[in-house]
Amino acid sequence: MSSKIYINGKFFPKDKAVISVFDHGLLYGDGVFEGIRSYNGRVFKLDEHIDRLYESAKAIMLEIPLTKRQMKEAVLSTFRINKFAAYIRLVVTRGTGDLGLDPRKCPKSTIIIIADKIVLYSKDYYEKGLKIVTATTCRNIPEALNSKIKSLNYLNNILAKIEANNYGALEAIMLTYDGYVTECTGDNIFIVKDNCLITPPSYLGLLEGITRKTVMDLAIASDISVKEAVFTRYDLYTADECFLTGTAAEIVPVVEIDGRVINDGKVGDKTALLMKKYRELTANEGTPIYAM
Ligand code: PMP
Repeated sequence: MSSKIYINGKFFPKDKAVISVFDHGLLYGDGVFEGIRSYNGRVFKLDEHIDRLYESAKAIMLEIPLTKRQMKEAVLSTFRINKFAAYIRLVVTRGTGDLGLDPRKCPKSTIIIIADKIVLYSKDYYEKGLKIVTATTCRNIPEALNSKIKSLNYLNNILAKIEANNYGALEAIMLTYDGYVTECTGDNIFIVKDNCLITPPSYLGLLEGITRKTVMDLAIASDISVKEAVFTRYDLYTADECFLTGTAAEIVPVVEIDGRVINDGKVGDKTALLMKKYRELTANEGTPIYAM
């Protein structure tokens, strides 16, 4: 079934869904975005995604010409019109300007909502786990471009992704310039050590993932202790368990990092438990697509 794509309040078939080559989202990666999932006709964590979108926009002084409520309605209507879709990409660019980078030349932002199916990793990886590597490309330092902003500028991540590709790995871990683990190119990272779930703190410069927060809440509810703490590659290599989180990836186990085998190459118990809890939560929670 062919999808209908939302651009500035109207729906277009895929081959007619076009924007200007002068859009600063294209020319400069000037814009913000979200990836949002639905399960069984309910949109998971819609408010959280909309809040993060508006915070990203505020951080780059990008005016979104819709209220949050209108934006939610736009997202829900895109899911309604694309019944097959389980994932949407919501993009707000600076809009059309001239060839200079001055955002003041872009009077109106462009809002795009694309609905699609998504399979990030095949089923096998959820059962057997991923083998991943650390990239030499460091994560952007927060003082230059804060990774809390989910901006259209993903070259930092793409450079690390290319390293993963070159190694034949599906993901790459990115470190700070001084060697602390931050996150992967498109997912957050967790380790389990001595029964405690650990993920890097966001002040290191990483996206505060909505799945990351959900998983931390699920762990607390399951009596698993959780902490945000800085750690290095050594802690990855000697971890009891490791997994990645993201809206599209959900929770995906990791069984090897830079050739070091984690948990004898098996999906860890806590990882498996959290995967189960996450599946239950996504199956039962969310904003119905007919809510507004
Ligand atoms: N880190 C990065 C760099 C991401 O792009 C994403 C989203 N794909 C995540 C983490 C996970 O965030 P969320 O759980 O909100 O999807």
